[in-house]
Amino acid sequence: MAKNSSFPPVYTDLTDQASENLRLALPLINKHKAAATPVNYAVWYEYVSGENLALTNAIDNLLGKQQFISEEISQALYEKYVLMEMPKRLEDTNTGLKLVVDNTLTNINEVESTTNQCLSGFSDSQMALEECNDLNDLKSLLGGILADTHKMSQTSGALKENLEHSASEITRLKEELNAVKESARIDALTGLANRGAFDNELLKSCQTDTKDTALLLFDLDHFKNINDTYGHLLGDKVIQYFAGLMLKNTPENSLSARYGGEEMAMILVQKSKQETFDLAEKIRLNFANSRLKKRGSEDTIGQVTVSVGISIKKPNDTPQDIIERADNALYRAKESGRNQVIIN
Ligand code: GH3
Ligand code: MG
Ligand code: MG
Repeated sequence: MAKNSSFPPVYTDLTDQASENLRLALPLINKHKAAATPVNYAVWYEYVSGENLALTNAIDNLLGKQQFISEEISQALYEKYVLMEMPKRLEDTNTGLKLVVDNTLTNINEVESTTNQCLSGFSDSQMALEECNDLNDLKSLLGGILADTHKMSQTSGALKENLEHSASEITRLKEELNAVKESARIDALTGLANRGAFDNELLKSCQTDTKDTALLLFDLDHFKNINDTYGHLLGDKVIQYFAGLMLKNTPENSLSARYGGEEMAMILVQKSKQETFDLAEKIRLNFANSRLKKRGSEDTIGQVTVSVGISIKKPNDTPQDIIERADNALYRAKESGRNQVIIN
């Protein structure tokens, strides 16, 4: 499978699949008279892999209008659907922050200059006051002091307002930055964590000395048949439905992710071996008993099932160790007839 909408993109295709994608992508690059640059290749590679649904739809839409995919269009598709607009969103946030800082500095400088002017005005008035013995002079001096005081209060009022505005702008930018960060962790089709986020989390749990961590690998059974019988779009709906089941059953502090294509994973923490097994069984049974319907019809599709392989973390495990053991268990679940959970 290709990347699961991670930023930066993560590709986990096996050599054969990657070679097949290369074989399919190159003629398309040629057909659109594009150079085989990394950008064009990434766009057409993801298109032929069929894993980047939004990109596939966008290209199919253009092709449907007999639109030629020029270098310019390809670059725009790359930025929007491969890089997920991440560089632009980060740049926008950065520019916003720079504006706020520049604006605040300008304001502070203005206040400083007004304050200096008023200070020198006050100091002149102070000296003049010591020597003043005329009522009219005193009146005019008081007028000056009053004007300076007024100016100072106006300036500090404006600064306060400006600082309040800056603070709310900074809060907004912080939220935007969090949203950018969050969307880089989420798989677009399922709303689960994506492969990049999963890899990070598994590495983190190997680096910390947490006990009772399990890895659950879920692989939908005979999924190719579902796509072949009902089409890729319905296949996507089934993946989304299964992801929803996983989310519903993910305890706090645990993480569910799209591991690849029709494979999901859960990093489950603070559960005994029995509880881990029971949770996987619950999800498996729930899925097997679901009666999924075709869109706009009461007809149900045949039973869809899932096989699950589980490994329990041992001290000094690397992510690869845990994955390998869960993968072995999953393989045994498939070999023993699918629609079952095996714990390694
Ligand atoms: P098994 O029980 O051995 O797992 O059989 P399988 O058919 O599920 O396994 P296989 O690895 O042969 O095929 C997986 C299929 O999943 C092929 C691929 O097209 C499909 N698939 C992967 N990702 C997606 C996706 O995002 N959407 C849809 N609709 N299908 C996908
Ligand atoms: Mg699979
Ligand atoms: Mg499968």
